[in-house]
Amino acid sequence: MVTQSVSSCAFPLSLDCRDSDTPGALRLFERQALELPNLMHALGRVVEAILLSVMWVGLPLAPIIVSAVSGDLSFLRNYRQTLRQAARQIRAMAKAEVIARRFYNEKRAAEQSVSWKIEGECSHCGECCLFQTCVFLDHDEEGRSRCRIYGNWFFNRLTCAEYPMTKDDIELYACPSFRAEPVRQVAQVRLGRHVIPVVARNAVPDSTVESGASPRP
Ligand code: SF4
Ligand code: SF4
Repeated sequence: MVTQSVSSCAFPLSLDCRDSDTPGALRLFERQALELPNLMHALGRVVEAILLSVMWVGLPLAPIIVSAVSGDLSFLRNYRQTLRQAARQIRAMAKAEVIARRFYNEKRAAEQSVSWKIEGECSHCGECCLFQTCVFLDHDEEGRSRCRIYGNWFFNRLTCAEYPMTKDDIELYACPSFRAEPVRQVAQVRLGRHVIPVVARNAVPDSTVESGASPRP
């Protein structure tokens, strides 16, 4: 009886779950699992509000900090311009929930990878650079976006270094180059239309085959 309870439990390491066969206990844990992303979202929003407030207060220091991070003194020389750009960036950070997303995006990406596969290649439009407001955004002679701190110690800590992680990320900035393909559709494309369906005894359900056929890399 206990063994059956463990095998059907979504939280096999939970003592409460292991010791109880009551559906009510399972429902409670399942509800908590569903609420966890919301809690992380709420926590992320609180932390984000605090950090963005600090950034607003420290805005006069922005040109100094930006110069130090990029190693480019032109930010400091063009103090007023950098200040205006930094203010635009902070507003865009709030709109895109850049800080809050760090609290839940990884989990969301893991969940979405069951149904969506992200494909594409960046065409350097610059939209995912905070709607083209990031102070570090630059453009080459052909108008392609270029990051002035790409690859440095600071860049690797930013959300944008992992863009796009989710279908929502793509939609957020209306990225023209990456797309989220439904896993079912990708599986059909890979199998082709001329595969003769074979139903074997003890065959696994279709949904299992489809989700397993195209795991997210
Ligand atoms: S929005 Fe998409 S295409 Fe544009 S710079 Fe970002 S990843 Fe590249
Ligand atoms: S890639 Fe560079 S320019 Fe774009 S948002 Fe990130 S830090 Fe800013």
